[in-house]
Amino acid sequence: MSTAQLRSESRGQYEAKAYAAAGAKSPLAPISITRRDPGEHDVQIEILFCGICHSDLHQVRSEWSAMPTVYPCVPGHEIVGRVSKVGSAVTRFKPGDIAAVGCLVDSDGNCPECQAGLEQFCQHMTFTYNSPDVHLGGVTYGGYSDSIVVKEHFVLRVPSNLNLAGTAPLLCAGITTYSPMRHWRVTKGKKVGVVGLGGLGHMAVKFAHALGAHVVVFTTSPNKKEDALRLGADDVVISKDADQMSNHLGSFDFIIDSVSAEHDINTYIQLLRPDGNLTLVGAPDKPYAVSALGLLFKRRSLSGSLIGGIAETQEMLDFCGKHNITADVEIIPIQKVNEAYERLSRADVKYRFSIDMASLKSQ
Ligand code: NAP
Ligand code: ZN
Repeated sequence: MSTAQLRSESRGQYEAKAYAAAGAKSPLAPISITRRDPGEHDVQIEILFCGICHSDLHQVRSEWSAMPTVYPCVPGHEIVGRVSKVGSAVTRFKPGDIAAVGCLVDSDGNCPECQAGLEQFCQHMTFTYNSPDVHLGGVTYGGYSDSIVVKEHFVLRVPSNLNLAGTAPLLCAGITTYSPMRHWRVTKGKKVGVVGLGGLGHMAVKFAHALGAHVVVFTTSPNKKEDALRLGADDVVISKDADQMSNHLGSFDFIIDSVSAEHDINTYIQLLRPDGNLTLVGAPDKPYAVSALGLLFKRRSLSGSLIGGIAETQEMLDFCGKHNITADVEIIPIQKVNEAYERLSRADVKYRFSIDMASLKSQ
Protein backbone atom coordinates (compact mmCIF):
# COMPACT_ATOMS: atom_id res chain seq x y z
CA MET A 1 0.00 0.00 0.00
CA SER A 2 1.41 3.43 -0.89
CA THR A 3 2.06 6.17 1.67
CA ALA A 4 -0.64 8.26 0.01
CA GLN A 5 -3.21 5.48 0.45
CA LEU A 6 -2.19 5.00 4.09
CA ARG A 7 -2.51 8.71 4.75
CA SER A 8 -5.90 8.92 3.10
CA GLU A 9 -7.20 6.01 5.15
CA SER A 10 -5.94 7.43 8.42
CA ARG A 11 -7.96 10.56 7.73
CA GLY A 12 -11.53 11.01 6.56
CA GLN A 13 -12.76 11.90 3.13
CA TYR A 14 -15.98 13.24 1.72
CA GLU A 15 -17.67 13.56 -1.65
CA ALA A 16 -17.90 16.96 -3.36
CA LYS A 17 -19.83 18.09 -6.41
CA ALA A 18 -17.76 19.30 -9.36
CA TYR A 19 -17.57 19.71 -13.13
CA ALA A 20 -14.91 17.78 -15.01
CA ALA A 21 -13.73 17.01 -18.53
CA ALA A 22 -13.39 13.28 -19.22
CA GLY A 23 -11.05 13.83 -22.16
CA ALA A 24 -9.50 16.49 -24.41
CA LYS A 25 -12.51 16.54 -26.69
CA SER A 26 -15.20 16.04 -24.04
CA PRO A 27 -17.40 18.83 -22.74
CA LEU A 28 -17.27 19.55 -19.02
CA ALA A 29 -19.96 17.62 -17.15
CA PRO A 30 -21.09 17.00 -13.54
CA ILE A 31 -19.00 14.58 -11.48
CA SER A 32 -18.65 13.56 -7.84
CA ILE A 33 -15.07 13.82 -6.52
CA THR A 34 -13.33 12.86 -3.28
CA ARG A 35 -11.86 15.58 -1.06
CA ARG A 36 -9.89 15.02 2.13
CA ASP A 37 -11.38 16.10 5.45
CA PRO A 38 -9.41 19.09 6.70
CA GLY A 39 -6.25 18.10 8.61
CA GLU A 40 -4.81 20.20 11.42
CA HIS A 41 -3.22 22.77 9.07
CA ASP A 42 -6.06 22.79 6.52
CA VAL A 43 -8.87 25.17 5.68
CA GLN A 44 -12.08 23.88 4.08
CA ILE A 45 -13.77 26.43 1.83
CA GLU A 46 -17.29 26.46 0.40
CA ILE A 47 -16.62 27.89 -3.06
CA LEU A 48 -18.76 30.91 -4.02
CA PHE A 49 -17.12 32.03 -7.29
CA CYS A 50 -14.49 30.58 -9.60
CA GLY A 51 -13.03 32.43 -12.58
CA ILE A 52 -12.42 30.78 -15.95
CA CYS A 53 -8.79 31.25 -17.00
CA HIS A 54 -7.56 30.52 -20.52
CA SER A 55 -5.14 28.09 -18.82
CA ASP A 56 -8.21 26.03 -17.82
CA LEU A 57 -9.08 25.78 -21.49
CA HIS A 58 -5.48 24.90 -22.53
CA GLN A 59 -5.38 22.25 -19.81
CA VAL A 60 -8.82 20.74 -20.42
CA ARG A 61 -8.00 20.40 -24.12
CA SER A 62 -4.50 19.10 -23.26
CA GLU A 63 -2.84 21.78 -25.38
CA TRP A 64 0.43 21.88 -23.37
CA SER A 65 2.80 19.11 -24.43
CA ALA A 66 4.98 19.67 -21.33
CA MET A 67 2.03 19.26 -18.94
CA PRO A 68 -0.23 16.49 -20.24
CA THR A 69 -3.68 16.50 -18.69
CA VAL A 70 -4.82 13.67 -16.42
CA TYR A 71 -8.55 12.95 -16.78
CA PRO A 72 -11.02 13.46 -15.32
CA CYS A 73 -9.82 17.06 -15.05
CA VAL A 74 -11.59 19.48 -12.68
CA PRO A 75 -10.15 22.90 -13.59
CA GLY A 76 -10.36 26.20 -11.73
CA HIS A 77 -7.70 28.20 -9.89
CA GLU A 78 -9.42 31.52 -9.31
CA ILE A 79 -11.33 30.64 -6.17
CA VAL A 80 -13.23 32.76 -3.67
CA GLY A 81 -15.40 31.25 -0.95
CA ARG A 82 -16.47 31.05 2.66
CA VAL A 83 -14.51 29.06 5.23
CA SER A 84 -16.61 26.14 6.46
CA LYS A 85 -14.12 24.31 8.71
CA VAL A 86 -10.55 24.75 9.95
CA GLY A 87 -7.97 22.37 11.41
CA SER A 88 -6.80 22.67 15.03
CA ALA A 89 -3.49 24.36 14.09
CA VAL A 90 -5.05 27.00 11.81
CA THR A 91 -4.62 30.51 13.20
CA ARG A 92 -5.56 33.00 10.47
CA PHE A 93 -9.04 31.75 9.47
CA LYS A 94 -12.24 30.72 11.19
CA PRO A 95 -15.54 29.38 9.86
CA GLY A 96 -17.54 32.13 8.15
CA ASP A 97 -14.49 34.10 6.90
CA ILE A 98 -14.20 34.95 3.21
CA ALA A 99 -11.05 33.38 1.76
CA ALA A 100 -9.38 32.85 -1.61
CA VAL A 101 -7.17 30.28 -3.33
CA GLY A 102 -5.16 30.68 -6.52
CA CYS A 103 -3.01 28.36 -8.64
CA LEU A 104 -0.94 26.85 -5.81
CA VAL A 105 -2.02 24.58 -2.94
CA ASP A 106 1.32 23.24 -1.67
CA SER A 107 5.14 23.46 -1.89
CA ASP A 108 8.00 22.03 0.19
CA GLY A 109 8.38 25.20 2.26
CA ASN A 110 12.16 24.65 2.75
CA CYS A 111 13.91 25.32 -0.55
CA PRO A 112 15.51 28.68 -1.39
CA GLU A 113 12.53 29.58 -3.62
CA CYS A 114 9.99 28.91 -0.87
CA GLN A 115 12.13 30.79 1.63
CA ALA A 116 12.17 33.73 -0.78
CA GLY A 117 8.38 33.69 -1.11
CA LEU A 118 8.56 32.29 -4.64
CA GLU A 119 6.54 29.12 -4.03
CA GLN A 120 5.58 29.05 -7.73
CA PHE A 121 9.20 28.12 -8.55
CA CYS A 122 9.55 25.38 -5.88
CA GLN A 123 10.56 22.03 -7.45
CA HIS A 124 7.87 20.38 -5.35
CA MET A 125 5.00 22.83 -5.72
CA THR A 126 1.50 21.51 -6.23
CA PHE A 127 -0.89 23.21 -8.62
CA THR A 128 -4.53 23.52 -7.60
CA TYR A 129 -5.47 21.03 -10.31
CA ASN A 130 -3.73 18.43 -12.45
CA SER A 131 -0.83 17.98 -9.99
CA PRO A 132 -0.12 14.74 -8.08
CA ASP A 133 -2.26 14.69 -4.92
CA VAL A 134 -0.08 13.48 -2.00
CA HIS A 135 -3.09 13.11 0.28
CA LEU A 136 -5.49 11.04 -1.79
CA GLY A 137 -3.42 9.79 -4.72
CA GLY A 138 -4.42 10.68 -8.28
CA VAL A 139 -4.36 14.38 -9.15
CA THR A 140 -5.57 17.53 -7.46
CA TYR A 141 -8.99 18.88 -8.39
CA GLY A 142 -9.67 22.59 -8.87
CA GLY A 143 -12.35 25.14 -8.16
CA TYR A 144 -15.22 24.14 -10.49
CA SER A 145 -16.55 22.47 -7.38
CA ASP A 146 -18.69 23.20 -4.32
CA SER A 147 -15.75 22.99 -1.89
CA ILE A 148 -11.99 22.61 -1.57
CA VAL A 149 -9.55 21.80 1.23
CA VAL A 150 -6.26 23.71 1.21
CA LYS A 151 -3.25 24.10 3.53
CA GLU A 152 -3.56 27.39 5.42
CA HIS A 153 -0.34 28.87 4.00
CA PHE A 154 -1.93 28.87 0.52
CA VAL A 155 -5.19 30.53 1.58
CA LEU A 156 -5.48 34.30 1.02
CA ARG A 157 -7.48 37.02 2.75
CA VAL A 158 -9.90 39.14 0.70
CA PRO A 159 -10.28 42.87 1.48
CA SER A 160 -13.84 43.44 2.69
CA ASN A 161 -14.68 46.19 0.17
CA LEU A 162 -14.19 43.97 -2.89
CA ASN A 163 -17.01 42.38 -4.88
CA LEU A 164 -16.52 38.60 -4.69
CA ALA A 165 -17.38 37.61 -8.29
CA GLY A 166 -14.83 40.16 -9.54
CA THR A 167 -12.26 39.16 -6.92
CA ALA A 168 -11.99 35.52 -8.02
CA PRO A 169 -10.02 36.36 -11.23
CA LEU A 170 -7.47 38.31 -9.19
CA LEU A 171 -6.15 34.97 -7.93
CA CYS A 172 -4.61 34.18 -11.32
CA ALA A 173 -5.20 36.93 -13.90
CA GLY A 174 -4.49 39.52 -11.19
CA ILE A 175 -1.28 38.15 -9.70
CA THR A 176 0.11 37.05 -13.09
CA THR A 177 0.04 40.63 -14.35
CA TYR A 178 0.82 42.39 -11.05
CA SER A 179 3.95 40.34 -10.31
CA PRO A 180 6.00 41.15 -13.44
CA MET A 181 4.99 44.82 -13.20
CA ARG A 182 6.47 44.95 -9.71
CA HIS A 183 9.54 42.95 -10.79
CA TRP A 184 10.23 45.26 -13.76
CA ARG A 185 9.45 48.35 -11.67
CA VAL A 186 6.49 49.80 -13.48
CA THR A 187 6.00 53.22 -11.89
CA LYS A 188 4.71 56.67 -12.66
CA GLY A 189 5.99 58.00 -15.96
CA LYS A 190 6.90 54.61 -17.49
CA LYS A 191 5.45 53.69 -20.89
CA VAL A 192 3.78 50.27 -20.66
CA GLY A 193 2.30 48.13 -23.44
CA VAL A 194 -0.35 45.46 -22.87
CA VAL A 195 -0.72 42.92 -25.69
CA GLY A 196 -4.11 41.16 -25.84
CA LEU A 197 -7.17 42.49 -24.02
CA GLY A 198 -8.54 39.36 -22.39
CA GLY A 199 -8.69 38.26 -18.75
CA LEU A 200 -5.01 38.88 -18.04
CA GLY A 201 -4.73 41.87 -20.36
CA HIS A 202 -7.57 43.84 -18.80
CA MET A 203 -6.06 43.32 -15.33
CA ALA A 204 -2.67 44.47 -16.67
CA VAL A 205 -4.30 47.69 -17.90
CA LYS A 206 -5.90 48.32 -14.50
CA PHE A 207 -2.63 47.70 -12.61
CA ALA A 208 -0.40 49.71 -14.96
CA HIS A 209 -2.86 52.61 -14.78
CA ALA A 210 -3.04 52.41 -10.97
CA LEU A 211 0.78 52.38 -10.80
CA GLY A 212 0.82 55.66 -12.75
CA ALA A 213 2.19 54.41 -16.08
CA HIS A 214 1.25 55.61 -19.56
CA VAL A 215 -0.63 52.57 -20.87
CA VAL A 216 -1.01 51.47 -24.49
CA VAL A 217 -3.17 48.46 -25.38
CA PHE A 218 -2.41 46.33 -28.45
CA THR A 219 -5.45 44.44 -29.62
CA THR A 220 -6.57 42.45 -32.64
CA SER A 221 -10.19 43.35 -31.81
CA PRO A 222 -11.16 46.88 -32.92
CA ASN A 223 -14.44 46.55 -30.99
CA LYS A 224 -12.50 46.51 -27.68
CA LYS A 225 -11.09 50.03 -28.16
CA GLU A 226 -13.70 51.89 -26.08
CA ASP A 227 -13.41 49.36 -23.27
CA ALA A 228 -9.61 49.63 -23.26
CA LEU A 229 -9.85 53.39 -22.71
CA ARG A 230 -12.50 52.95 -20.02
CA LEU A 231 -10.29 50.38 -18.23
CA GLY A 232 -7.45 52.90 -18.01
CA ALA A 233 -5.51 52.80 -21.30
CA ASP A 234 -4.16 56.11 -22.62
CA ASP A 235 -3.93 54.82 -26.18
CA VAL A 236 -5.09 51.80 -28.18
CA VAL A 237 -3.29 50.28 -31.17
CA ILE A 238 -4.93 47.84 -33.56
CA SER A 239 -1.98 45.48 -33.83
CA LYS A 240 -2.74 44.36 -37.40
CA ASP A 241 -2.20 47.97 -38.60
CA ALA A 242 1.53 48.35 -39.41
CA ASP A 243 1.33 52.17 -39.52
CA GLN A 244 -0.19 52.37 -36.06
CA MET A 245 2.49 49.97 -34.77
CA SER A 246 5.38 51.96 -36.29
CA ASN A 247 4.27 55.11 -34.45
CA HIS A 248 5.54 53.46 -31.26
CA LEU A 249 8.93 52.08 -32.44
CA GLY A 250 11.64 52.10 -29.75
CA SER A 251 9.48 53.81 -27.12
CA PHE A 252 8.34 51.33 -24.44
CA ASP A 253 9.96 50.65 -21.06
CA PHE A 254 7.94 47.49 -20.54
CA ILE A 255 5.49 45.37 -22.53
CA ILE A 256 3.45 42.49 -21.13
CA ASP A 257 2.22 39.95 -23.71
CA SER A 258 -0.85 37.99 -22.62
CA VAL A 259 -1.75 36.44 -25.97
CA SER A 260 -2.90 32.82 -25.73
CA ALA A 261 -2.09 31.89 -29.34
CA GLU A 262 0.88 31.88 -31.70
CA HIS A 263 1.83 35.36 -33.00
CA ASP A 264 4.89 37.38 -33.98
CA ILE A 265 6.63 38.76 -30.88
CA ASN A 266 9.43 40.44 -32.85
CA THR A 267 7.11 43.32 -33.76
CA TYR A 268 6.76 44.02 -30.01
CA ILE A 269 10.51 43.70 -29.33
CA GLN A 270 10.99 46.46 -31.91
CA LEU A 271 8.78 48.74 -29.86
CA LEU A 272 11.07 48.59 -26.79
CA ARG A 273 13.44 51.44 -25.92
CA PRO A 274 17.04 50.77 -24.76
CA ASP A 275 17.00 48.27 -21.85
CA GLY A 276 13.28 47.80 -22.34
CA ASN A 277 11.73 44.45 -21.44
CA LEU A 278 9.08 42.27 -23.03
CA THR A 279 7.58 39.80 -20.56
CA LEU A 280 5.57 36.86 -21.85
CA VAL A 281 2.75 35.64 -19.65
CA GLY A 282 0.62 34.15 -22.44
CA ALA A 283 1.33 30.45 -22.86
CA PRO A 284 0.79 29.05 -26.36
CA ASP A 285 2.42 25.64 -26.73
CA LYS A 286 4.35 26.29 -29.94
CA PRO A 287 7.82 27.91 -29.52
CA TYR A 288 8.25 31.50 -30.71
CA ALA A 289 10.82 32.57 -33.30
CA VAL A 290 12.92 35.40 -31.84
CA SER A 291 15.17 37.76 -33.79
CA ALA A 292 18.59 37.99 -32.10
CA LEU A 293 19.23 41.39 -33.71
CA GLY A 294 16.00 42.74 -32.29
CA LEU A 295 17.32 42.03 -28.78
CA LEU A 296 20.96 43.02 -29.43
CA PHE A 297 20.17 46.46 -30.62
CA LYS A 298 19.19 48.59 -27.62
CA ARG A 299 20.12 45.76 -25.17
CA ARG A 300 16.48 44.72 -24.93
CA SER A 301 15.41 41.70 -22.90
CA LEU A 302 12.76 39.04 -23.26
CA SER A 303 11.48 37.16 -20.24
CA GLY A 304 8.63 35.13 -18.85
CA SER A 305 6.68 35.22 -15.61
CA LEU A 306 4.57 32.62 -13.81
CA ILE A 307 1.74 33.73 -11.47
CA GLY A 308 3.37 34.96 -8.20
CA GLY A 309 4.25 33.78 -4.69
CA ILE A 310 1.80 33.70 -1.80
CA ALA A 311 3.04 36.84 -0.02
CA GLU A 312 2.95 38.80 -3.28
CA THR A 313 -0.54 37.48 -4.04
CA GLN A 314 -1.70 38.86 -0.68
CA GLU A 315 0.09 42.14 -1.46
CA MET A 316 -1.78 42.28 -4.81
CA LEU A 317 -5.15 41.62 -3.11
CA ASP A 318 -4.43 44.36 -0.56
CA PHE A 319 -3.41 46.71 -3.40
CA CYS A 320 -6.74 45.91 -5.09
CA GLY A 321 -8.57 46.63 -1.83
CA LYS A 322 -6.83 49.99 -1.53
CA HIS A 323 -7.45 50.99 -5.16
CA ASN A 324 -10.86 49.30 -5.42
CA ILE A 325 -9.74 47.08 -8.30
CA THR A 326 -11.59 43.92 -9.34
CA ALA A 327 -11.96 42.12 -12.67
CA ASP A 328 -14.79 43.02 -15.05
CA VAL A 329 -16.78 39.81 -15.07
CA GLU A 330 -19.61 38.06 -16.85
CA ILE A 331 -21.20 35.92 -14.13
CA ILE A 332 -22.43 32.54 -15.40
CA PRO A 333 -23.97 29.42 -13.86
CA ILE A 334 -21.78 26.31 -14.11
CA GLN A 335 -24.25 24.84 -16.61
CA LYS A 336 -23.02 27.45 -19.17
CA VAL A 337 -19.35 26.54 -18.82
CA ASN A 338 -18.99 24.83 -22.21
CA GLU A 339 -20.53 27.81 -23.99
CA ALA A 340 -18.13 30.07 -22.06
CA TYR A 341 -15.14 27.96 -23.24
CA GLU A 342 -16.26 28.36 -26.86
CA ARG A 343 -16.51 32.11 -26.44
CA LEU A 344 -13.14 32.28 -24.64
CA SER A 345 -11.48 30.45 -27.52
CA ARG A 346 -12.80 33.23 -29.82
CA ALA A 347 -11.50 36.05 -27.52
CA ASP A 348 -15.14 36.93 -26.84
CA VAL A 349 -15.39 37.70 -23.12
CA LYS A 350 -15.68 40.99 -21.25
CA TYR A 351 -13.32 40.34 -19.65
CA ARG A 352 -13.46 37.26 -17.43
CA PHE A 353 -16.13 34.62 -16.85
CA SER A 354 -16.82 34.11 -13.16
CA ILE A 355 -18.86 31.02 -12.28
CA ASP A 356 -21.49 31.50 -9.58
CA MET A 357 -20.95 28.22 -7.78
CA ALA A 358 -24.36 28.33 -6.08
CA SER A 359 -25.58 27.00 -9.45
CA LEU A 360 -23.83 23.69 -8.70
CA LYS A 361 -26.14 23.08 -5.73
CA SER A 362 -29.14 22.67 -8.05
CA GLN A 363 -27.24 20.20 -10.24
P1 NAP B 1 -7.99 35.36 -22.82
O1 NAP B 1 -8.96 35.99 -21.89
O2 NAP B 1 -8.49 34.42 -23.86
O3 NAP B 1 -7.15 36.54 -23.50
C1 NAP B 1 -6.20 36.32 -24.51
C2 NAP B 1 -6.25 37.49 -25.49
O4 NAP B 1 -5.24 37.27 -26.47
C3 NAP B 1 -7.53 37.58 -26.29
O5 NAP B 1 -8.55 38.27 -25.63
C4 NAP B 1 -7.08 38.35 -27.53
O6 NAP B 1 -7.02 39.75 -27.24
C5 NAP B 1 -5.65 37.87 -27.71
N1 NAP B 1 -5.56 36.85 -28.75
C6 NAP B 1 -6.19 35.65 -28.79
N2 NAP B 1 -5.85 34.96 -29.89
C7 NAP B 1 -4.97 35.75 -30.57
C8 NAP B 1 -4.25 35.60 -31.78
N3 NAP B 1 -4.35 34.49 -32.54
N4 NAP B 1 -3.42 36.60 -32.16
C9 NAP B 1 -3.30 37.71 -31.42
N5 NAP B 1 -3.97 37.92 -30.26
C10 NAP B 1 -4.80 36.95 -29.85
O7 NAP B 1 -6.90 34.54 -22.01
P2 NAP B 1 -6.27 34.81 -20.55
O8 NAP B 1 -7.03 34.03 -19.55
O9 NAP B 1 -6.04 36.25 -20.39
O10 NAP B 1 -4.88 34.04 -20.70
C11 NAP B 1 -3.96 34.45 -21.68
C12 NAP B 1 -2.78 33.50 -21.74
O11 NAP B 1 -2.05 33.59 -20.53
C13 NAP B 1 -3.16 32.02 -21.89
O12 NAP B 1 -2.22 31.41 -22.77
C14 NAP B 1 -2.99 31.48 -20.48
O13 NAP B 1 -2.72 30.11 -20.43
C15 NAP B 1 -1.82 32.28 -20.01
N6 NAP B 1 -1.68 32.39 -18.56
C16 NAP B 1 -0.41 32.42 -18.07
C17 NAP B 1 -0.20 32.58 -16.71
C18 NAP B 1 1.20 32.68 -16.19
O14 NAP B 1 1.40 32.45 -15.00
N7 NAP B 1 2.16 33.06 -17.01
C19 NAP B 1 -1.30 32.68 -15.86
C20 NAP B 1 -2.57 32.67 -16.40
C21 NAP B 1 -2.75 32.53 -17.75
P3 NAP B 1 -7.48 40.85 -28.32
O15 NAP B 1 -8.89 40.49 -28.68
O16 NAP B 1 -7.35 42.10 -27.55
O17 NAP B 1 -6.52 40.76 -29.44
ZN1 ZN C 1 -4.95 31.05 -14.67
